[in-house]
Amino acid sequence: MLPGVTAKPLFGAVEAGGTKFVCAAAYGPTDIPEDCRTVIPTTAPAATLAAVVEFFEGITRRYGTLSGIGIAAFGPVDLDTRSPTWGRILATPKRGWSDVSLVAPLERFGCPITVDTDVSAAALAEARLGAGAGLGSLAYVTVGTGIGGGVFIADRTLKGLLHPEMGHIRVKRDRRDADFAGVCPFHGDCLEGLASGPAVLARWNTRVENLPEMHPAREVLGDYLGQLAATVALMVSCERIVFGGGVVSGGRLLPYIRQSASRWLGGYLPIEARAGGFERYITSPGLGDSAGTAGAILLATQRGQ
Ligand code: ZN
Repeated sequence: MLPGVTAKPLFGAVEAGGTKFVCAAAYGPTDIPEDCRTVIPTTAPAATLAAVVEFFEGITRRYGTLSGIGIAAFGPVDLDTRSPTWGRILATPKRGWSDVSLVAPLERFGCPITVDTDVSAAALAEARLGAGAGLGSLAYVTVGTGIGGGVFIADRTLKGLLHPEMGHIRVKRDRRDADFAGVCPFHGDCLEGLASGPAVLARWNTRVENLPEMHPAREVLGDYLGQLAATVALMVSCERIVFGGGVVSGGRLLPYIRQSASRWLGGYLPIEARAGGFERYITSPGLGDSAGTAGAILLATQRGQ
């Protein structure tokens, strides 16, 4: 490098998911150089994290030091920076991953590390760059193997005792679905136990996208997820709710979710009066599949979120 020329700071991002880890190095959330992204299948923790370290070692050899690393992790994960177990995955049914630190292997890069949940990072990215750009608050919900949600509000992602665990709220049961016990190992028929991908499979023996258009499953699932949307709107007063994940897109559930949320709210919140009404209030992701990685980059660049 020429004397006097300052390199742009380069940040590392890890989107740590249950099936894959997406790693990237970037100058900003939409500025990832061609050779600075990789996808690592999630296997045993030691092998997965060794591949992550190897990726960033290659990056630092080519580009120099990292200015920060953001980790957007599947949960539950300890986000309390005062805790001795900060950055560790907590008790999880995912085999071998309980008590695994996502931070420790990356400390060798000598830069600040920021950790949040994958869904909170996605909420941050959607609020800044995606479906909520220009708004001050947004909730992001994903419905797939599990149901998770994050909230961006008052210029930060919501956390406290742990982090939001929206998938485990209780919902009022549909009469047509009264006999199903639910699949959540902790609560049986919580929302995740009723409306996640495995819950669909357990009831109807197929994925939601394979069900006929008029199958009552869409109404049932939309009703439950709409109850979550209504609850989130009432509890945190966010200005937009984004629903991602394969169950919502595959089942084309958004219209059912909007209808249900509107019914449960009963006109109480000023949503219908706003331009676009529920069509704009409850939407699909603006960033598609890249929200988690963009969020991890934002975590790295905006320390203190
Ligand atoms: Zn549960």
